[in-house]
Amino acid sequence: MKLYQTEAIVLRALAVREADRVLVLLTREQGKLRVWAHGAARPASRKRGAVQPFCRSRFLLAQGREIDTVRQAEVLEDFAFLYADLKALGLAVYLCELAEGFAPEGQPNPGIYRLLLQVLRRLTGPRRDLLVRFFESSILALSGLRPELDVCAACAGRPAGPLRFSPRLGGLLCGACRARDPAAPACRPATVRVLGKMLDWPLNRVGRLRVDPVTARELATVLHACICYHLEREPKSLAFLRKLGE
Ligand SMILES: [Zn+2]
Repeated sequence: MKLYQTEAIVLRALAVREADRVLVLLTREQGKLRVWAHGAARPASRKRGAVQPFCRSRFLLAQGREIDTVRQAEVLEDFAFLYADLKALGLAVYLCELAEGFAPEGQPNPGIYRLLLQVLRRLTGPRRDLLVRFFESSILALSGLRPELDVCAACAGRPAGPLRFSPRLGGLLCGACRARDPAAPACRPATVRVLGKMLDWPLNRVGRLRVDPVTARELATVLHACICYHLEREPKSLAFLRKLGE
């Protein structure tokens, strides 16, 4: 049986039997991967710490016919601080759900790997609403779904008039084209500017963005519409976040 090593973030750990887990991993080298972790939840298991959600761990895996199996796992970064803050924990679950939804299977996307780590590390800090918007817009761009903001996505003209944002058409709709997607939410120029910066700026500059509450809400609505459209469903973890008022 062929053994190989990989570094990965645990996106999800599903309890299969009492002590067994199926892990959904985001690996650096081969994208998303599902693996078996036999006995990983046993109190005496040496793998136990390394298979917790959000952990960045080094795995030794054995190639299987259907699914690979965890032989050894060692924690590199445990993100234990997330478990002490319920909202941060809820947001971490949401980010991991998006990473699972957007990361390709068996194909590396080092950008998504780096993005998830960067944002998880900052989740207990200030302006985490903007941090999550940054994650949402970046994961779209890293998946080849960068929204079109420079021209109208329907007529390719300069965006003018009351603007909308159409996830289906992939970007802004000018006032004249709004009938092309009646469900498209409003997207004022202030929101377009912030979204543009989210897409072009590195994460450490995003904390310096000044965003008024109306623009913040509109940005959240536009990105939410985009995420739901591409995932073809609403992320499940949002129900929990709404209960927390986030
Ligand atoms: Zn147009």
